[in-house]
Amino acid sequence: MTAPEIPESHPRYESLLTRHRIEAGVDRGLTSRQGLIAQGRGEAFDYLLGEETIPSADDAERAAAAHLLRADHAVLSVNGNVAALAPEETVALAAATGADIEVNLFNRTDERIERIVEHLNAHGAEGVKGTTADGRIPGLDHERAKVDADGIGSADVVLVPLEDGDRAEALAAMGKTELVVDLNPMSRSARSAAVPIIDNLIRAVPNMTDHARELADADESTLSSIVDSFDREAALAAAEERIRAP
Ligand code: ATP
Ligand code: MG
Repeated sequence: MTAPEIPESHPRYESLLTRHRIEAGVDRGLTSRQGLIAQGRGEAFDYLLGEETIPSADDAERAAAAHLLRADHAVLSVNGNVAALAPEETVALAAATGADIEVNLFNRTDERIERIVEHLNAHGAEGVKGTTADGRIPGLDHERAKVDADGIGSADVVLVPLEDGDRAEALAAMGKTELVVDLNPMSRSARSAAVPIIDNLIRAVPNMTDHARELADADESTLSSIVDSFDREAALAAAEERIRAP
């Protein structure tokens, strides 16, 4: 997806391109209008973080890759913003880690789920879950609780980019290892994660894929030591520190 009207020399090219992709996602019925608001909040935090992957986020992305590779059943959750911003990148991460992809929407409609599945398929995805919705996350109201029983419902590790705070907390309460991509280190989503990844999705997903490819032949003990040495509190603190003192 390109935005020909934005010159690459523009100092905030990436930010403008991201905005353009979300707008296009709304026009194509992939992204909800609330997704535009989430995008605005994300842009503000990305600006404060310097619009780059800070070292603690790179560590988190490596730990997340190790979790995905070590999992019995990992699932990458895709919502309307993820579908608009990084469809190919998500498919590549699934391929590099053996994870499933499940479409999971905060404002769920069958039509939007179908569109997102088709969009992901057009970017090379296969077997995308999210249409059965025969599982439930305990503690959430009916629509927000729906997941696929053989997807997020039975996953041990779930990557949830830009997840709503309530649902992130409910998934963590189910005992799932939650990897959350969220630019706001103070959001409940980030705070309920086993691995909070305080970075822009468009940088975080390809970087996780790079780490996963590099770790593809690593043995169980190498993966476990990467997972065990990751410090979630330190990652949150480092991001907050960067925002306060860039
Ligand atoms: P809660 O505290 O319940 O988690 P919230 O403020 O996070 O609430 P939303 O507005 O639904 O609620 O969440 C959107 C989140 O997604 C924001 O924290 C925003 O920073 C983040 N976000 C938006 N775009 C991106 C992106 N491209 N990459 C990473 N994070 C993003
Ligand atoms: Mg949140």
